Amino acid sequence: MIELKNVTKSYHQALAVKDLNLTVEDGEIMGLIGHNGAGKSTTLKMILGLIEPTSGQIEVMGRDMAKESVYVKQFVGYLPEESPLYANMTVTEYLMFFSEIYKLPKRKAVARIDDLLGSLKLPERDRLTGELSKGMKRKVTIARTLLHNPTLLILDEPNSGLDPLTSFFIINYLKSLREQGKTILLSAHNLFHVEHICDRVAILKDGELVVCDSMKAIQKSLGRRDYQVVFYADEKLDYEREDGNYVFRTTDISQVASVLERISENEWALVNLSVRESALEEIYVKLMMETEQQKEATS
Ligand code: ATP
Repeated sequence: MIELKNVTKSYHQALAVKDLNLTVEDGEIMGLIGHNGAGKSTTLKMILGLIEPTSGQIEVMGRDMAKESVYVKQFVGYLPEESPLYANMTVTEYLMFFSEIYKLPKRKAVARIDDLLGSLKLPERDRLTGELSKGMKRKVTIARTLLHNPTLLILDEPNSGLDPLTSFFIINYLKSLREQGKTILLSAHNLFHVEHICDRVAILKDGELVVCDSMKAIQKSLGRRDYQVVFYADEKLDYEREDGNYVFRTTDISQVASVLERISENEWALVNLSVRESALEEIYVKLMMETEQQKEATS
């Protein structure tokens, strides 16, 4: 769906994106993450054809964006990081206005707006957009992004400034869009959301791609697995105690096997055995610190 080949963007002297190679497959949700100023928005804007790369090539739906961005745009929905609404229009007026820009026939537009506001759980269709809360405004901009039923969605921080419940709703809504066959590329700072929604994650640092892989593969190569065995024994043992039970924690599966064997041999009571994968946030922080240290060591 999207292919970036050796894409670089410099603003005056500053390099915002450096030699970026990235592919987004049809029907997947790809998360683009990185620190403030890492180059996420610049990358999204180049993919959309809003700004031109300094060098390199971008293809969207097999079309070269340097030549065919106008054609491609009809299939793309873009949610900018910040998107002011027209405060003196009602939600319906605002969405009808954009339907006209997209040249949707009136009856089709009315049905589409009904459908979108229903699925986004936004009943405030007759209220002025200027009177809406931040979460409601974000839902209106998401509805606007989807009006023309795009195949590809480019979302710059879709959950920015939203409360946990609205964020959770939006995350599930995006999952339902993937199920409808849409391809989604999003940038986000909330790594918990990224981890729970994205099929693959690309990490940018200072404009460079550090990692691009599935969550499972990232956890396998960069994370760790923590095991916890909780058991009860009516005798004094050399294990950590918690709530009247003994707890054994390790990252080594063979040690788990020996403790389980001991529990079984002594007929102690196994209370719980759990495995915890590193969260994306932990992996990200560790990766950023390591790359920073490497940079310092080589400079
Ligand atoms: P954030 O998470 O804060 O939104 P980002 O990862 O989206 O950051 P970009 O907005 O792409 O980062 O910015 C990347 C770099 O390019 C930054 O150093 C920024 O200052 C610079 N930059 C972005 N837009 C411009 C511009 N129009 N003119 C000059 N420099 C710019």
